[in-house]
Amino acid sequence: MDVSKSTEWRQYLEQNSNSRRHAEKVGKIVPSGSSRSLLRHPPFPFFVNHAAGISSVDLDGNERLDFHNNYTTLIHGHGHPEIMAAVKEQLPKGTSYSAPVVQEARLVDLLTNRIGGVDQVVFNNSGSEAVMVALRIARAVTGKQLIGKFEGGYHGSSDFVMVGGHEIPDVDDPVKVSKPKPDMAGLPDAATDQVVLIKYNDVEAVKEAVAQYGDDMAAMIVEPIMFAGGVVPATPEFLQAIRDETARKGIIFICDEVVTLRQAVGGAQGYYGIDPDLTTMAKTIGGGFPVGAVGGKREFMKCLNDASDGGTVANLGTFSANPMSVTAGAVAMELLDEAAIAHINQLGDKARAGLQSIIQTHDVAAQVSGTGSLFQIHWTDTPITDARASMSGNPDQVLLNFIGMCNRGVQLSMRGNAALSTPMTEATIDTMLNAFDETVASMCAEGYC
Ligand code: PLP
Repeated sequence: MDVSKSTEWRQYLEQNSNSRRHAEKVGKIVPSGSSRSLLRHPPFPFFVNHAAGISSVDLDGNERLDFHNNYTTLIHGHGHPEIMAAVKEQLPKGTSYSAPVVQEARLVDLLTNRIGGVDQVVFNNSGSEAVMVALRIARAVTGKQLIGKFEGGYHGSSDFVMVGGHEIPDVDDPVKVSKPKPDMAGLPDAATDQVVLIKYNDVEAVKEAVAQYGDDMAAMIVEPIMFAGGVVPATPEFLQAIRDETARKGIIFICDEVVTLRQAVGGAQGYYGIDPDLTTMAKTIGGGFPVGAVGGKREFMKCLNDASDGGTVANLGTFSANPMSVTAGAVAMELLDEAAIAHINQLGDKARAGLQSIIQTHDVAAQVSGTGSLFQIHWTDTPITDARASMSGNPDQVLLNFIGMCNRGVQLSMRGNAALSTPMTEATIDTMLNAFDETVASMCAEGYC
């Protein structure tokens, strides 16, 4: 399947000549033309000139509805007026201080009041840092080394979670627990040696991993809705098995809510009724600014106290809890109340039902996964219960669908996943569905599905 011969591909080239010129220029000074590897795609990405509300406008003047929302971060869209007002008020007062900031307490209050498993919080600058710190707390508290991680899970870019993301067992492989492969070069051997890779949504796999490695395992980290691995919701039994098995063996249960906090006021842990030991957060809690956070039960968080107060792990970072991020984040979390979440979750239901119906109308081997305000289009009819199934999709169709949607003014992620924002309406979803309908028709007409 050569997608570069398609009408969609040609149209993308025609519509994006300024972005193409910029890509060629910047490709000489930035590796492959962008600092963010996950935003690169063939033939070249479009570059955004400005964005407001639910859409962005690129260097060629193409306007696109933003269903990507910076990988789920922009839950209130671009430049929400209340967030902007708070940021404008803070800006002249200083962007970072040489002393702790009073503004952080407001965001901590908001998080501890809504998330059951979170008694205390520290901030850092990204979800990756939050995960790195949470793993350190787990090792420090338990005195153990191994980390349990699930196939296809993405938990940021720190060493011990940059494994087992891509090259995982095939969908039919009976193996449930394995040694992970590195997701990139340059990792220490310990990153693969000290991580146990476990099949997602598989209660027996959790039990097997704990039976084999539990005595040496410090933490098990899981996303309650695996986002990068295919927007796959966990089954309640699977999460309960993780809770029960980790509690039984003295393993720290880290719930990675960097993406899934949007699922309910109490995050996905509230939605599922699970009670993790530590919770990692980022994205939405920064209101569009860089942020990460580790929260958790007091008995584990005390590990971050000063040494004189029983602490053994430091949470560092020159910009951690900077006043811009925590100010914007507090407004974003106040806006993300029960009604706002119900709104985007209902739009999510409409989007998933509409996409599935279009897939059926065109009779293509595809499907939609997700829950709440998250979804992903998959180009496979293997039921999506884990990352193995998600990765069995046809990559050419994924790319062509992404490009076709871009041509029609709708941006998903290149993988086909999407996150809704609160300013979206039913009309926004209808526009996206029309774009998908036309794109699939165009793909089928040229023999790509
Ligand atoms: N955890 C999860 C579940 C994520 O999806 C991500 C990023 O996409 C991270 C951690 C890392 O967050 P950041 O990109 O802010 O470092």
